[in-house]
Amino acid sequence: MSWQRILQVDPGESVPLRQRIQLLFEQQRDTWPALREGEAALHQLHKKTLTLDGRSIVVQANPARRRSTLAKTDAKSVAARPCFLCPQNMPVEERGVAFEDMVVLPNPFPVLPMHCTIAALEHRPQNIAGKLGVFLRLAKSIGPELIALYNGPRCGASAPDHFHFQAVSAGEIPLLRELAELPHGSLVRPYASFGRGMFLFRGSNATSIEIAIERCIAELRDLDQSHEEPMFNLMARYQPQRCTVALFPRTTHRPARFFAEGSARLAVSPAVVEMCGIFVTAEPDDFPKVIAETAHAIYAEVTVPIARVSEMAARIAASGNDLL
Ligand SMILES: [Zn+2]
Repeated sequence: MSWQRILQVDPGESVPLRQRIQLLFEQQRDTWPALREGEAALHQLHKKTLTLDGRSIVVQANPARRRSTLAKTDAKSVAARPCFLCPQNMPVEERGVAFEDMVVLPNPFPVLPMHCTIAALEHRPQNIAGKLGVFLRLAKSIGPELIALYNGPRCGASAPDHFHFQAVSAGEIPLLRELAELPHGSLVRPYASFGRGMFLFRGSNATSIEIAIERCIAELRDLDQSHEEPMFNLMARYQPQRCTVALFPRTTHRPARFFAEGSARLAVSPAVVEMCGIFVTAEPDDFPKVIAETAHAIYAEVTVPIARVSEMAARIAASGNDLL
């Protein structure tokens, strides 16, 4: 299978991306049983809403996510398996539509409606350096009904060897409901919810937002002390005249309970979807174990404390007067 074959259903750039994604899903539901089954399973999932201090998240029991939740993402394991984002390893039915030098593909193991993977044409490592502009343009092109997502290679990307973004429906995202109620404010600000700290970037000027995010990543690089990309997840949504980006700085990928034995074990691997407030459990026994205090503690364990986020946000804001 080649990209040419994957892209054969793409009507081309004369049709807006959002519309081409809709047409792609319709074509794939008709021709790819795995996607049809994955979407049908999504409607049957057990879910529960947890609320703490006036903030809510949704826990879902999603056994189809086991592959992703338990994925071994160390370099040796990744090198030993065929890359599922390279066209020669894709199911024969899988199709996509082009976006810049990437391809939008339906995800047959969805967490939310309209779950897409946006894979680079080229097999190259997950690293957003030099690609923030592409990410923000993707968020704009998919429209306000969808959000663009990014998982860093060490904190949630199940294919750290093949550069990719994701997109999902914005409709069921708990964090977006909270953010909609926030007053308009500065370009960058710290924000805490349900144990997790994050940076919020908001404004109408995509260039200013991109520069502010780059400054934020530079701050995280100082904190992280790693030669690799610092650990963070990203969410972006474009509404008319307004872009909102949440950057979730991470301290670790998996909580200690992931590695525990017996009843203490929880097979959860928080990635960007969890940061947005959809807490996925893949093992049936884990769903009842996740109560509000458990989820709050895991969020606090895997993200940078809000006090540090606030210090960094103040420095970014102070250096960013030229951006406003
Ligand atoms: Zn690949």
